[in-house]
Amino acid sequence: MGTHRENADAQAAGAAAGAVREPDWERVRGDFPVLHRLVRGRPLVYFDNAATTQKPAIVIRTECEYYGTCTANVHRAIHFMAEEATRRYEAVRAAAARFVDAPGAASTVVTRGTTEAINLVARGWAIPRLKPGDRILVTGMEHHSNLVPWQMAARATGAELRSIPVDDAGELDLRRLPELLGNRTRLLALTHVSNVLGTVNPVRQLADAAHAAGAAVLVDAAQSVAHMPVSMAALGADFLAFSGHKMCGPTGVGFLCARPERLEEMEPVFGGGEMIARVEETESTWAEIPHRFEAGTPNIAGVIGMGAAFEVFSELGMDAVQRRDAMLTRVALEQLAAVPGLRIVGAAPDRIGVVAFALEDAHPHDVAQLLDRDGIAIRAGHMCAQPLLRRFGHAALNRASLAFYNRPEEFDVLAESLVRARRALAGGRE
Ligand code: PLP
Repeated sequence: MGTHRENADAQAAGAAAGAVREPDWERVRGDFPVLHRLVRGRPLVYFDNAATTQKPAIVIRTECEYYGTCTANVHRAIHFMAEEATRRYEAVRAAAARFVDAPGAASTVVTRGTTEAINLVARGWAIPRLKPGDRILVTGMEHHSNLVPWQMAARATGAELRSIPVDDAGELDLRRLPELLGNRTRLLALTHVSNVLGTVNPVRQLADAAHAAGAAVLVDAAQSVAHMPVSMAALGADFLAFSGHKMCGPTGVGFLCARPERLEEMEPVFGGGEMIARVEETESTWAEIPHRFEAGTPNIAGVIGMGAAFEVFSELGMDAVQRRDAMLTRVALEQLAAVPGLRIVGAAPDRIGVVAFALEDAHPHDVAQLLDRDGIAIRAGHMCAQPLLRRFGHAALNRASLAFYNRPEEFDVLAESLVRARRALAGGRE
């Protein structure tokens, strides 16, 4: 019997003994309509959760309900439905702030996702204040969303962009941190969790060092929010960005949570309706934060649907989600390590269930294509982290990334399919 089954049994036994009350994960899984479907005649095995997660029925229903019951624009009109839509929309802003223990709804900006949130800070905060010779510090494991905007900001201002290196285990090498921070770093922008290696970074330690050096701290929480409790206060972040679609919410919804004084320092990036206080022929004044960063009609239905996703996670409890993630991650690592010719990239002890790997003598795209024939969805490519992949000597990798609704048995299916794929790609017979 595989150790992962023992882990699962131990977890169930612990729950039965009353040590911890675990959610009924099979029932939880049952609430995700797409997980019931067949793909190429096989039960879908979805391991591309780091790209986007599946949506439970309540999220889909809540989003549709807005269109069916209270379609109206927010913040604009004084009529019943507009007030209802606005109330529901604003309740989600507050839920987002609570979910990540941010300072409050009043300093939480609704965005289209993590990418837009980070770009807002780059354009609204960094570009107006950085001077030639100032420094922006990132890490060698950033998603392009938390790298390219800083390259643009550096180019626009004459600031320099430096990067904390990644060691062979896939952890940040902090030996040169004091030198990298120096005394001109204005911003440290780093990911909480790597979308390739699954590494959980010691954000608080880095944030304390950055603050001591006079820098602000932006945390990209895109990959952490669905896997562990996230507290902006505990992390010591000035800005924290995340996307709804990576935590069972709709696409096109994200949040930039900030310390209020940081948002006050920020210039609006988009001009238009809703972000102004008064408009004259030739100039305007801005609305209060956070509205001055939200020009135009937002994704109202998506935001309201996102409210249901926050409720799902709150009802499960993030501690239970984290335990589930840890158990599934152990199973994933065990099963993948047992596949002949497979090499896992990254070995950080503090990690979540995002596992990058290379199969000997096989191109990652071919591997993903063969797995797809078995109804298994994994990722192949550079995973929007080209510098990191190059650091490990790859142009492309495969990645299996899990969510709480995955079953331990699905890793057996994955491992068996990988063994067959390797044989097929090596020219053997399946
Ligand atoms: N940051 C990280 C670590 C990510 O994994 C992703 C998406 O994969 C992003 C940022 C970008 O998120 P979005 O595409 O939702 O803006």
